[in-house]
This record gives sequence, structure tokens and C-alpha cells, in this order.
Amino acid sequence: MWSMRIGNVSGIPIKLHLSWLILAGLSIYSFEQLFTLNGQSGLPLALLGTLLLLCSIVLHEVGHALMARRLGLRVTAITLFLTGGLTELADDVDLPQSEFKIALVGPLVNVGLAIAAFVGAWFSQGVWASFWATLAIINGLLAVFNLLPCHPLDGGRVLRSIFWFLNDDLLRGTLQASMIGRYLGNGLMIIGLVALFSNALTGSLLLLMGWMTNRAAVSNFVQTTLNYTLSRALVGEVMTRSFRTVSPHLTLDLFAGQYLLGQAEPAFPVVHSERLIGMISVQHLYRYAMGEWRSISVGDAMTPKADLPRLNVGDSMQTAYYTMLGQRYDSLPVTDGDAVVGIVRHRDVVAFVQSALKIKV
Ligand SMILES: [Zn+2]
Repeated sequence: MWSMRIGNVSGIPIKLHLSWLILAGLSIYSFEQLFTLNGQSGLPLALLGTLLLLCSIVLHEVGHALMARRLGLRVTAITLFLTGGLTELADDVDLPQSEFKIALVGPLVNVGLAIAAFVGAWFSQGVWASFWATLAIINGLLAVFNLLPCHPLDGGRVLRSIFWFLNDDLLRGTLQASMIGRYLGNGLMIIGLVALFSNALTGSLLLLMGWMTNRAAVSNFVQTTLNYTLSRALVGEVMTRSFRTVSPHLTLDLFAGQYLLGQAEPAFPVVHSERLIGMISVQHLYRYAMGEWRSISVGDAMTPKADLPRLNVGDSMQTAYYTMLGQRYDSLPVTDGDAVVGIVRHRDVVAFVQSALKIKV
């Protein structure tokens, strides 16, 4: 949403997110300020500069994409956002060497472009010399910024791939890289706090950046852990096999009294003649006034089986978990044919990941 396709580079669609227009506006404004001299409008150079900035960001992402493809990974698309670009891969990067190469090539493209623009400035004169010099500086800054060692920047991925390689363990590598990301974020927050006394704006920006860096490091670790653990598990290993089922004929007031009062379970499979016909949860009750509960049955209020995502024992737990998240189900029944053999609840997933990592809570 909010993005349109602007082209293709060797079969990879390039999409421009609307937020990029803010960056384009800022870029045009800054270039124009720089190049409006002696009453001459700087607009043509501002437009050209902004176009070349767009090209620099696209080429940075194309670098990531082509390297990923060379290493045998499928690339879905390149999207340009307010903060730069994003290359989406259809496959998980499975080797630290691959992650290292894919992440590093982006900033290297900017280094190459900075050198090219610097050569351009060297051989130009007057306003063109400063134009190319500005582009060289922008590309140099893009390279340096992207190499900062914190997630989700390229430098954070380079750092993680190094720890991943040294430990021969993705999770341990991610943990160590995210610790450094957190230290960096905390350092920025301390500098921000000190800077607050001299310049409130700079101070609060640094505080915000530090906080975001810290959060990104933590969420990257959690996300990696979750994906890594769940991609190696099947639904049958995570689901709980002890659960209560509800008859569709039970009225909602009896359901509330017998199943929900004093119980921690939020949802139940509705079963008729040993076959799953739907799922009912406490949320279904809220759709009716309490006075109506006596006249409405579980079968009328439930989500019917046809509307529920189907889960089988042999399904990938990663796919199942993202289905639950995407469709906002706290728990889902697992079936074998028409029979319910278990349910997967959000807390089963959490418990499974914790026990896989042997985290003590
Ligand atoms: Zn990058």
C-alpha cells in the first residue's frame, strides 16, 4: 500500500513508497539553497541532484539484490522509503558468509559512487565542481551511516554475520550483535541527555535515536529467535493435546458459567459427533448483550470451521504462527481429517520458544 512501481532492474520490481516524496522534497529544498547563486535559480541542479540521489539509493539496493541473487536467494522487490531503501528476500539467508557479502555490498556501491562523483568534481569547474563534490559527500555519508553497527542498518548485519561466523551459531551471533546495538543505543541516549542542557532539539533527537537503536536491537534478537526456533518445529510439537471441547447446542450463559468463569482458557473448539465445526472464545460473547445469552447457542455465535485457517500436525509452526498473528487468533484448533487432535495457543508458542532456548523465567 502507498507504493507504486517505478521500474524493473533485471526482473526485480522497484517500488517507490509515498513517504519517499518527503525525502525528495527535503533534497530539492536543500540543493536549491546550496545552488541558488547570483540570482540564478538552483532548481535545475536541485532536480538533477535529487534524481541522482534517488539513483544512488536504488543502486545501493540493487547491489544487495544482485549479490543475494548471485548467492542463490530469491529477491521479491526493492522498495524506496523515507529513510532509504529495502530489499525484500523471499528466502532466509542461511550462511553468515552470504549475509556478510549481501550487507556489505550496499555501502560499497555508495563508496564507488562517491569516488566517481569526486572524479567528476576534480575535472569540473565552477558550480559543477561543487555539485559533484556535494554528491560525493552525500554518497560518502550514506556509506558511513549504513555501516553503523546497529540493526536494521547494513553495519548491524555485517556485525551479526561476523559473530554468527565466529560462533558458528546464528542465535548466539545475533545476541552478541544486538548487545552491541543496545550499548550503542544507550550511549546515544546518554549523549542526548547531556546535550539536552545545551540544545534541546539535538538532545531530544539523540535521545530518540538512541531509544530506537536500543529497541531495534532487542526486537531483531526476538524476531530472529522466534523465526529460527519456529521454522524448525512442526505444529504437532507445539500444540497442546489436553483441551476441552464445547457442544454447539450449549447456550452462551451456560458456556460462560461452565467454561469461562475462573478459567484461563480463552477459546474452545466446538465439536459435534466428534467433528470440528467451529471455534468459540470469550470475544464471541461480547457481541451479544448479557440478556441474550440465554437464547443464543454456541453454534450460532461461534466462528464456523470454514472461516478458520486449517492447521495440521505436520504443518510448519512458523507458517502457523504468522497465520495466527495475521488473523488475530489467540488459539487455533489442529485437525486430522475432521477430528480435533490439539490446539495451538499463543502461550504454547511462547513456552515452546522459551524451552527451546532454555531461558529461565
Ligand atoms: Zn543497505
